[in-house]
Parts: sequence; structure tokens; C-alpha cells
Amino acid sequence: MDKKQLRIETKCVQGGYTPANGEPRQIPIVQSTTFKYATSEDMGKLFDLEASGYFYSRLQNPTCDTVAAKICEMEGGTAAMLLSSGQAASFFAVFNIASCGDHVVSSASIYGGTYNLFAVTMKKMGIEFTFVDPDCTEDELRSAFRPNTKAVFGETIANPALTVLDIEKFAKVAHEMGVPLIIDNTFATPVNCRPFEHGADIVTHSTTKYMDGHGTAVGGCIVDSGKFDWMAHADKYPGLCTPDDSYHGITYAEKFGQAGAFITKATAQLMRDFGCCQSPQSAFYLNLGLESLHVRMARHCLNAKKVAEFLESNERIAWVNTPELPSNKYYALAQKYMPNGTCGVVSFGVKGGRTAAEKFMKALKIIAIETHVADARSCCLHPASATHRQMNDEELKNAGVPADLVRLSCGLENYQDLIDDIAQALATL
Ligand SMILES: *Cc1c(COP(=O)(O)O)cnc(C)c1O
Repeated sequence: MDKKQLRIETKCVQGGYTPANGEPRQIPIVQSTTFKYATSEDMGKLFDLEASGYFYSRLQNPTCDTVAAKICEMEGGTAAMLLSSGQAASFFAVFNIASCGDHVVSSASIYGGTYNLFAVTMKKMGIEFTFVDPDCTEDELRSAFRPNTKAVFGETIANPALTVLDIEKFAKVAHEMGVPLIIDNTFATPVNCRPFEHGADIVTHSTTKYMDGHGTAVGGCIVDSGKFDWMAHADKYPGLCTPDDSYHGITYAEKFGQAGAFITKATAQLMRDFGCCQSPQSAFYLNLGLESLHVRMARHCLNAKKVAEFLESNERIAWVNTPELPSNKYYALAQKYMPNGTCGVVSFGVKGGRTAAEKFMKALKIIAIETHVADARSCCLHPASATHRQMNDEELKNAGVPADLVRLSCGLENYQDLIDDIAQALATL
């Protein structure tokens, strides 16, 4: 049986690991920093990337590689790596192909942490970003490019704006301009959307969210589709297409081909130098989450839809935002890219603004106040009084997080209990 042909549900459960006769059924946690060799020649081959094997867990660890292989199969990629966080994944994915003096085009509707990484920290490293409206036309997108543009970046479903990206539009223009499209697929997960099937070249994840799904371990992942032809754009990507002096003159795109060059370089160079590795224990927890991801995503989406329908019909609610609702601006795009559901996050406005939103949240009994999302337990956040509390109402509006906005992450509870909790809290207003 060709494992690549298996359906996503089976890949969630069994991908990445096939034990041999008498081996553990569950993936072993290889809690070891180092690995033993009989001769220096054996180890030398590993350092020269002449042989594959383990020597130090900062670079590679068998448990982490097993889980990365599962996510790779789920996304339909050719190579993948785990990282210490989603932030590290976004940074490595871009920095692997862009350096000082380069430029990247990004959707403006992205996670706040990623925006800060790009607009502030990577800018200090000499990489410039142009942020475009995700709903821009192809021409507008094209006009954001410069001769030194090295990549395009966007999120399948943006956190927290919940905009849905037209991946095919972004991929078409990126490829026309000779650069890869990097997609942060955290909110949709490969269960609901596989960006490679729509033209994306690299996928990143904060595995901290739905993939882990139980609030246990911070982590990230990068997957390569193996479809971008680096050598055809060798002038743009010298890091992949010319010899790496720090690795004995290896040219990644030649030695590892399209299928392996990107992840090998990110591991051999960036992981070696920055060390943002995931621990094998965290990878084990992540794998437990992945085993039930397909079952959980369906429930997260159902709960979000039911809660959103209730909110939409409630007179104390000013507006509701989720691509699960037919009234939503992104419903059609969501149907195209995620016909089986989007994610469990819904945002809405409580009539009466900041004060009403605060009072409403205080009255909730089952739904907890947290900065987290995508957890088995429902939680919510009022950005105006938490993450964005330094802003006044006008600034909040401009940032796309109005003062009345409540972000609700629907967990795996019974949706009627969530609706009852929201109803009783609204009744206190
Ligand atoms: C949380 C999140 C990140 C950052 O991930 P961490 O694991 O918290 O570092 C990146 N992208 C998206 C869409 C996220 O939701």
C-alpha cells in the first residue's frame, strides 16, 4: 500500500512511524542529547552530510523527526522539521531564503507576533517587508514586488482577523514573479486545508494550537512541498544554489534536490546556529494531539458554527465574524479551500462597547479568559482590555480590533453548554 495515498484521517493516526516486528507501537521518546559512534570516520560522514544519522539533538532527534514525518505526510510535502515554536517556524521559513538587503511581500492580515517579527525584528536584520491587503487584486499584488523580493507570505485563516486567503491567487503571482509562496496553515490545519494542493510551496505551523490541541506544549513545524525549482532561480537564492562554505562547500539544491534542499539547509545552517529545536518530550505530546486532530477539528468547527448562529440571532450582539456563516465576506472562499470546515475561532462585538464586553466576559462560567486559542477547553479574550490595552478606541478600530471585540475559541465541550454560558452572561448586561 502506498502510504502517500492514505486518507488524511489515517495519516493523522499512523503517519510518520511504522514499527518493525517487536518494536514499540507508540513512538519512543529518545531522551538523549547525543548519539554514539564507533569511529571518527563514521561521525565525520554525518558532519559532511555524506550519511544521514543522528549526532546531536539540537540538529536532529529521532522522536522529533518521526513527528515531522507525520506532519509532512499530512500536508503532502517532501521534507519537514519541527521547531521550538510557531515563531521560530515563521522566522526560519523566511530567513532560509531571504537575508540582509532582501525584500518579502506579506499579507497584512497575519498573526500579531508574526507581524512584529517581520515589521520590527527582521527589519533590524535588513530584510524589508511590504504588507498587502489579502483581498488585493493580482495587479496590486504584483506592484508590491521589487527586484530583490524573495518570498510571499500569508495565513490560510488569519489569526485573529479570520480573513481567508485566496491561496491560488497568491501562488499564481508569486510563481509569475519567480518566488515561492509560504503559507502559515496553523488555524486550518492539514485536516481542513492542504495549501500545497492550491499552489503553496512552503507551509509553516504553530503546532501549539490545534495540532497539540490540549494546551500542553509550544512548538512549530515547517514543511516543504518540494515543488519550487530553486536552481531555475539560482541568482535569487545563492544560499541554496551556491556552495555553503560553512558546510564543506555543499550546494544544497544540487546535493539534496528540490525535494530536500530547503529543509536540509534550514536544519544544517539555521538550526545549527540558532538552536530553536523542539524537545523529544514535546514532540511526543504533539503526536498524541495529531492522532485525534481529524476528530477534534470537526467538533471545533461544529461548535463554532452553532455558537455563531446563536450569536448572530441575539439582539445584544452587534456583529459576528466567522467564515463558517453564509453571511460572512469569506464564506465562498472558505467553501472553496475548506469545504469540511474552517476552525473553532469566532469573533464578535457586544453592544455597549468596551464596558459591556468586559462585564460579559466576567460573567462567563465555562468559557475561561486566556490569551490562548485552539484548545480543547473553550476560552476567550477581550483584546481591548488585555493584549491591546495600551490603545484607545480610535487606535483599536484602526488596528482592526474594535473595543467591543471578543475573540472566542470554541473548544470540544457540548455546544449547547457553551451557548447557555454565553446566554446567561449576556443576560447580565
Ligand atoms: C500562535 C501563532 C503563531 C506563533 O506560534 P507560537 O507557537 O506561539 O510561537 C504563528 N502563527 C499563527 C497563525 C498563530 O496562531
